[in-house]
Amino acid sequence: MSEKRVRVRFAPSPTGALHIGGVRTALYNYLFAKQHGGDMLLRIEDTDSQRFVPGAEEYIIESLNWLGIKIDEGVGVGGPHAPYRQSERRDIYKKYVNQLLEAGKAYIAFDTPDELEATRAGIANFQYDASTREGMRNSLSLPTKEVEDLINSGVQYVVRFKVEPNEDVVVNDLIRGEVVINSNILDDKVLYKSADELPTYHLANIVDDHLMEVSHVIRGEEWLPSAPLHVLLYRAFGWESPAFAHLPLLLKPDGNGKLSKRDGDRLGFPVFPLQFTDPKTGAVSSGYREAGYLPEAVINFLALLGWNPGTDQEIMSMEELIKDFSLERCSKSGAKFDYEKGKWFNHKYIQMKDNSEIADLFIPVLKDYGVEAQKETVEAIVALVKERVNFIKELWEQSSFFFKAPKSYDEKVVKKRWKAETPEQMTKLAEVLTAIDDFSAENQERIVKQWIADNEYNLGGVMNAFRLAIVGESKGPHMFDITAILGKEETVARIKTAVDTIAI
Ligand code: GLU
Repeated sequence: MSEKRVRVRFAPSPTGALHIGGVRTALYNYLFAKQHGGDMLLRIEDTDSQRFVPGAEEYIIESLNWLGIKIDEGVGVGGPHAPYRQSERRDIYKKYVNQLLEAGKAYIAFDTPDELEATRAGIANFQYDASTREGMRNSLSLPTKEVEDLINSGVQYVVRFKVEPNEDVVVNDLIRGEVVINSNILDDKVLYKSADELPTYHLANIVDDHLMEVSHVIRGEEWLPSAPLHVLLYRAFGWESPAFAHLPLLLKPDGNGKLSKRDGDRLGFPVFPLQFTDPKTGAVSSGYREAGYLPEAVINFLALLGWNPGTDQEIMSMEELIKDFSLERCSKSGAKFDYEKGKWFNHKYIQMKDNSEIADLFIPVLKDYGVEAQKETVEAIVALVKERVNFIKELWEQSSFFFKAPKSYDEKVVKKRWKAETPEQMTKLAEVLTAIDDFSAENQERIVKQWIADNEYNLGGVMNAFRLAIVGESKGPHMFDITAILGKEETVARIKTAVDTIAI
């Protein structure tokens, strides 16, 4: 028997910014598909026009692009099963709704929202199902003639799935094992609404998974309650069900419950991949990209939230993740969203990048601060300070003194380090430096230290004052690495300015 080709889909609804949990779902689908040499589809589930948010689809595509999650087939790419936007597939769904109606596996219901509400108010725990449907207004309870008349008169109706009572429905989940649900707890879900001539999520979702030859449905745990109904729908159509895998929830960093945007706002981290501006309210939500994350770091961080390779390895490239990923190693229980760990990953990925790449990312930040600098210089500076940062933008804090001479001097440091003898020592130091031809860090260090020794100066005293003159405070990398980059002229000029401005 030949194995079925692996085809998975990411099927978001364009209802706003894509939550970071959704990004993880997309990632796991992608890793699974690529490991099996299969296809990754992107389908946009936009049958709920009430919740449609303009720009959300573009946002989803841009997010996946930024993260390097490549789509083989679907919205934005095309493919043999186009269109991949559900709102453009109305006619297809209509055909399948009729098929269920004709087979007696679904029925038409006329109950208005008000009527349903009144029924719910009157009957505790009311559920539209085998035990109650006879008492409602539908094609099973009303005479055929009346049903026809109602439809012909243009009255709005819905199509409901006829769930057979008292049957154990088995969902075979690749992460959770066998999940058994009795059909008595399922209601006769609405599959289609005449008002907008659109199917609901359930029908569109399973029809498309079937037609698009999806082999594995990998999605968030919140969809597990829908799975028994989906199993019954596949059976009603006589179709083979795809394999299911319901991923663990992403949990709050503190306490219990699902990670929400509010947690991000409260604890100061983004829950969206890219910054998002709500088109209705204008509210701006922060994104990982704008917060300064490298896409590789976000991928690595997310991959390990709910899955582990079974070893201690934490730093994993996309290629390694594709090779090692397995649904069997996904956890059943929720994964705490450890934001600090996200920062740690970003730090690690910055260290792993070449200085040239980091310089390319840092140059635009420098421009924002009004600094134009040679790429070579930026690279040399990055090499000295990158280990101190978690984010590219923090490089500025660590290196601004390379680009701008101090305008003031840290008072506490002045008090401690700028002694009566300092101006004279610094003036002499400037002379010593002026006389050096080879201004490399090593050569400067050798000569300056010799001069300090010859004059029996205190090494720490001179060096600390030197740093204050050059940096403006007592921070920064090795002194002579700094001055080698600044060059002789700038170094000497800064010493002179310090001598002229710092009052003893
Ligand atoms: N449209 C659903 C969502 O927004 C898809 C769920 C599924 O993957 O079946 O996540």
